[in-house]
Amino acid sequence: MSEDHDGGYDLVVVANRLAVDAVHDEDTDDTGVSTDASGRRWRRSPGGLVTALAPIMRPADAAWIGWSGSASDSPTLEPFDAEDMHLVPVHLTADEVKLYYEGMSNGTLWPLYHDVIVPPEFHREWWDAYRKVNQRFADAAVETVAEGGSVWVHDYQLQLVPALIRSRRPDVKIGYFHHIPFPPVEIFTQLPWRKQVVDGLLGADVVGFQRDSDAGNFLRATRRLTDNTTKGDQVRVRTSRHLTEERYVRARAFPISISSEDFAAVAAKPEVRARAREIRRELGEPTTILLGVDRLDYTKGILHRLKAYGELLSDGLLKSADTVLVQVASPSRERVEHYKLLRDDVEQTVARINGDHGGIGSAPINYLHQSVGMEEMAALYLAADVALVTSLRDGMNLVAKEYVAAREDLGGALVLSEFTGAADELPQAFLVNPHDIDGLKAAIVRATRVEPAEGRRRMRAMRRRIMRHDVHRWADDFLGYLAMAAPGPRPTQEDS
Ligand code: UDP
Repeated sequence: MSEDHDGGYDLVVVANRLAVDAVHDEDTDDTGVSTDASGRRWRRSPGGLVTALAPIMRPADAAWIGWSGSASDSPTLEPFDAEDMHLVPVHLTADEVKLYYEGMSNGTLWPLYHDVIVPPEFHREWWDAYRKVNQRFADAAVETVAEGGSVWVHDYQLQLVPALIRSRRPDVKIGYFHHIPFPPVEIFTQLPWRKQVVDGLLGADVVGFQRDSDAGNFLRATRRLTDNTTKGDQVRVRTSRHLTEERYVRARAFPISISSEDFAAVAAKPEVRARAREIRRELGEPTTILLGVDRLDYTKGILHRLKAYGELLSDGLLKSADTVLVQVASPSRERVEHYKLLRDDVEQTVARINGDHGGIGSAPINYLHQSVGMEEMAALYLAADVALVTSLRDGMNLVAKEYVAAREDLGGALVLSEFTGAADELPQAFLVNPHDIDGLKAAIVRATRVEPAEGRRRMRAMRRRIMRHDVHRWADDFLGYLAMAAPGPRPTQEDS
């Protein structure tokens, strides 16, 4: 903690990852790089959460706690200032990365919370590491937050942190935001440590979710697994042994968004628009460009999308001579077995469709297993006639929102899975159940053939929503709501 902050920070954000990434020696690009007091170089992380919170993270009164992203067996990093933020690194050993992060977070909670699309694994060793690492994040928060300050904890890797903080610091307000879905109680209760997770979350004053249905699932889990009662979005938590003290926890939806104006501005740049035209030329000026952009994750429904597309080509409803699907599949969690298998399946399917329907110098799928930068992404959005978002389950899906923000021209059409958080806000998209391949095919055909006037009407309505409800408003809404929450235990009438 810096000298000015012996009393701690008024706002402390706690997330699995720090808001900056280390810049390695071999990286000679100095754009956006700041150097800490020890000479290490850092660059702000590209993620949406950092963009949302950076403006309120002035080092004067806010700190960000997270893991630096590299594992080592010797704790080395002290807190430092970079990118106008006060950063407090949490150390993870290589073993903890395996057990807490790749294991419990990505091998248990991620599949369990995404409708068990692949089976979650339950290992007590993973859970032990999860508890231990959550305790470390909570300890860092306890030591960093000022008397009466606020802590905002993020996401499923840190569900025990709210209660761990509260047990030592009843003076602080605690918010928690859950970025991924919260599953129905019948699925959630498979978790051997379900009660501990609910109790961990109930340590917060405000528990935020992407959708009303997620908040509803959490409230049902609370009723099923604890003695607490709920009324509307409020949980009454009995806190003393004799159940004479209580506090209130609010659980409700705060749908996250993007920095809409910034994204629209990138898409409006002349060089980005020129790049969009160039992409169309490079693809051979097809009549229809379809676009999918996803992390290569089994939740994204990439295989369902490919199946529908392949069948449309076979049926002749789309013609390979004048249609191209650009599929960006950015590498993700490559050390986890299910992700390796998925990559094999996707690439085999792409090869099969290209083999069946391609020609010399032309392929109906242009597949990129790589990460694409923001400007190239915006150019792809502008070049695409139809964006395909076919997630089987997705907390929000920011790609859908970015596509809409980019289309100031009101062109393009969005096919959107109803199993995304974004579907609640974008009913004017072509909504689909991606498990229903015939329904998905029909929606793709309708989107490719939509009358221009109807396409513009749909896009205008979606843009109105996305441009108003941006990520800055999301952060303000959450923190505003948290500010109204009462900290600490409130005695009941019997006690007073
Ligand atoms: N993204 C990117 N490059 C890529 C693929 C994705 O920059 O090659 C970005 C994309 O623009 C979006 C985010 O990653 O901002 C993906 O967010 P989303 O909510 O769609 O999915 P998540 O990956 O968080 O599950």
